[in-house]
Amino acid sequence: MQTTRSTVTTTVHTTGRNDTELSWQDLGACRGLDATIFYPDPDDEVGTDRALAVCEGCMVRESCLEHALAIREHTGIWGGATERDRRRILRRRRRSA
Ligand code: SF4
Repeated sequence: MQTTRSTVTTTVHTTGRNDTELSWQDLGACRGLDATIFYPDPDDEVGTDRALAVCEGCMVRESCLEHALAIREHTGIWGGATERDRRRILRRRRRSA
């Protein structure tokens, strides 16, 4: 099953945290935007750049990227990283572990 931003948010909201507590998802620059923006065709450079531009100014970019790496998110742009970027990061981390 593909994990989507909305299910991730729902999971975070139902895992015992205080309702008044904000999670990184609540603070993302993509909040309220059409999530399909973050799932461009891998060959769509314009679409990819558009999504990366949103991430560039996001204050929770690092948390978002670490989340995507932790759950091995295979699709979409998370934390300013494409699928290929995340594979590269994980490979680099495995080598240096
Ligand atoms: S880094 Fe990008 S995908 Fe992650 S929360 Fe921020 S804007 Fe959204």
